[in-house]
Amino acid sequence: MLVMTAAQLAVIAQAAEAAYPRECCGLLIGSGQRVVRVSRLMEAANLLADQRPDRFELDPRIRFQAERELRGGRERIVGHWHSHPDAPPLPSTTDLEQAWEPEMIWLIAAVARSPDGRPRMVEALAHRLDRDTGRSRPVPLRIAEKSACQGKGFPT
Ligand SMILES: [Zn+2]
Repeated sequence: MLVMTAAQLAVIAQAAEAAYPRECCGLLIGSGQRVVRVSRLMEAANLLADQRPDRFELDPRIRFQAERELRGGRERIVGHWHSHPDAPPLPSTTDLEQAWEPEMIWLIAAVARSPDGRPRMVEALAHRLDRDTGRSRPVPLRIAEKSACQGKGFPT
């Protein structure tokens, strides 16, 4: 299970909507094993944003910086997030090919244009991906502050 706060999801929604129709990405920092709690987010530049709207490559400098900061502490990089503009929040074939680290949780945020013309995050789902089997399995996502996420379209 992945536990996040409504505020953290709102940050991801905002970044995903701002990047639309490109993908955005970032790191999930947290702790825990069976129940993984996200303590904070680190937004990262998507190095492929200008080349391919449907791909992302997290700036490795952010990854190094995070690993340096977290060394010796209780927190670690528990996963990362990226957006899927006009696509469901499920791992793409490319995502599966890039899943080098089976312990990482992939949070994917689906963004679509709403009737008023503005991009809106419609759903976010978490997964674990296994490159060797080419499969993914869902990770239940729990929002720690339930009341604050009503009307946002998150599964409850
Ligand atoms: Zn993807």
